[in-house]
Amino acid sequence: MYTVSDRRNAIRPYVLSIQIDLKHNRPWRCEFCTKFARESVWMTSEWLQLKTPSMVSYVHLVCNSEIGECAQTLSAINSEMQSLAGAPPRPLPKLSRNGTKYPMAASCVNCNNEAKESRKHLKQCNRCKITRYCSTDCQRADWARHKVFCKTVKEVKWVWA
Ligand SMILES: [Zn+2]
Ligand SMILES: [Zn+2]
Ligand SMILES: [Zn+2]
Repeated sequence: MYTVSDRRNAIRPYVLSIQIDLKHNRPWRCEFCTKFARESVWMTSEWLQLKTPSMVSYVHLVCNSEIGECAQTLSAINSEMQSLAGAPPRPLPKLSRNGTKYPMAASCVNCNNEAKESRKHLKQCNRCKITRYCSTDCQRADWARHKVFCKTVKEVKWVWA
C-alpha cells in the first residue's frame, strides 16, 4: 500500500526536472513581455491520495522571476493560484544571482551555450523529443540528470497555453 508521501517521493525527481527540461525545449519568450525567457517557475496541485493519483503542474516561462514587473505579475498569479488550489507557490531555488543570468530558453541544457550559431542546430532528445542538446557529448553528460524525466514523460498529458 503506497502512502501519499511514498507517492510524493516517487515523483519528486521528475517534478524537479520539469522546470529545467521544459525551459530547454523551445525558444520561449517571457509570458508577460517579449524578452527571451530565462527562468521557469512551476506550481503543482496534487491529488496523490486518489486511487489513480494525479498531479497538475503549471510551468511559467518568464524573463526574471525575482526582479521587475514580470516578477510582480508572476507573484500575484502565484498567490491567486495558492488561494484557489491550496497549493503553496514554489519559487525557483535561489541561485547566486550576483549579476549572472539564468541560461536562455532553448539553449543546450548541458553547456547552456547561448551563441546564436550554437542554438541553431540543436537537436531534441530522441526519446522524449523535449530536451535540447548541442552535441551527443552534451547529451551523454546530462543523461544521469535527464533520465528520470525522459522515462516518465510519456505519462504526461501536455496542455500548451
Ligand atoms: Zn518579462
Ligand atoms: Zn551543449
Ligand atoms: Zn529525453
